[in-house]
Amino acid sequence: MMITVHENLPPKGGDKSNLQTVYGKLQSELLEDLKNYNIPTKHNSMRTKQLWNWTFLGGVKEFSEIKNMPKELLNELSKKYTFTRDSITMEQESSDGTIKWLIDLASKNNSTNNQIETVFIPEKNRGTLCISSQIGCTLNCSFCHTGTQKLVRNLTADEIVSQLLIAKDRLDDWHRNNPNNIRKITNVVLMGMGEPLYNFDNVKKALLIMTDCDGLAFSKRRVTLSTSGIVPFIERVGNEIGVSLAVSLHATNDEVRDILVPINKKYPIRELINACENYPRLKNSSKITFEYVMLKDVNDSLTDAKALIKLLRNIPAKINLIPFNPWPGSNYICSDMEQIKKFSAVINNAGLSAPIRKPRGQDILAACGQLKSETLRLRDKK
Ligand code: SAH
Ligand code: SF4
Repeated sequence: MMITVHENLPPKGGDKSNLQTVYGKLQSELLEDLKNYNIPTKHNSMRTKQLWNWTFLGGVKEFSEIKNMPKELLNELSKKYTFTRDSITMEQESSDGTIKWLIDLASKNNSTNNQIETVFIPEKNRGTLCISSQIGCTLNCSFCHTGTQKLVRNLTADEIVSQLLIAKDRLDDWHRNNPNNIRKITNVVLMGMGEPLYNFDNVKKALLIMTDCDGLAFSKRRVTLSTSGIVPFIERVGNEIGVSLAVSLHATNDEVRDILVPINKKYPIRELINACENYPRLKNSSKITFEYVMLKDVNDSLTDAKALIKLLRNIPAKINLIPFNPWPGSNYICSDMEQIKKFSAVINNAGLSAPIRKPRGQDILAACGQLKSETLRLRDKK
């Protein structure tokens, strides 16, 4: 397979630690802050909108690129704010067009391990950006590569938004260069590194910024938060963020799920299903997606397929069957394709949709559950 490693990376961004990023603020926060500057009160809201537009439609990286705001104000703002993104340290493109960025985050705890991965998956009629919410993960799901990496820390809201801006920069996906508004990134999924619901406040803020209709304006249906099932937060996702929900179910009984997704010992299947049955959705909103990794002889019997149908009978659900993506040192084998197809057919026959997810970017370890900071991966090899 052909892997391209791109070398024309943008120069490393300046240090943003002493400044605040414009894109890490809610519009309401910027409005509030702009009141502290020398602006006629009646212009506050207009100036906030302008700043917001340049940030999220124009994709500007410098205050000097902004044309329709007073120079003195821009000068003042530049003392407190920046548009600097986090730095890309590697860009790899898979033979199937999937692109993976390794992003270096400013160290907040003197750790050398401050890298995350963001993946772009182009498809015929859409482009999905898979973003991370934590460096590492605390949850140790036994089939997941990220789970073998200890949690380093939660990402801040601006580090979550920054991943989207970086991808838009690299794909030249800014509105100002593309007046017909044909976007390359049409969907965002929180399916990279980390458990988003263990970083609820920052994830919430980042998603509210991405879905603000004056800016990036992602429809809430096109943004999906995937969780391993942190039950107490599920209702809050619906009420406070309102994006689509995906739940990593992976098993139909507690005995197996306790091993695959150990957080199940704290929030067992029945509690998780109850929370999903009560998930507050917008009217006619989309279904809940249940992710189900196909592991040979572990969770792939047709009895499991039938149990799944029964479990989800009261939920408007779609099941995503994910062929297991192996990684160095993993203890599982992917189910045979024949078996996955039979499993899918049983579910389809019951009237539920159960598409088989096509693995993408496997050659660059960008597929589900293969992400792990490159530094650690290299260390493991030694
Ligand atoms: N922590 C969140 C989101 C990130 S993982 C969660 O667990 O939902 C995104 C999806 O990839 C999850 O459904 C996860 O279970 C799945 N996954 C993890 N490792 C995998 C692997 N090796 N092969 C296939 N899917 C995997
Ligand atoms: Fe964490 Fe999700 Fe991987 Fe489990 S599957 S270890 S929750 S990233």
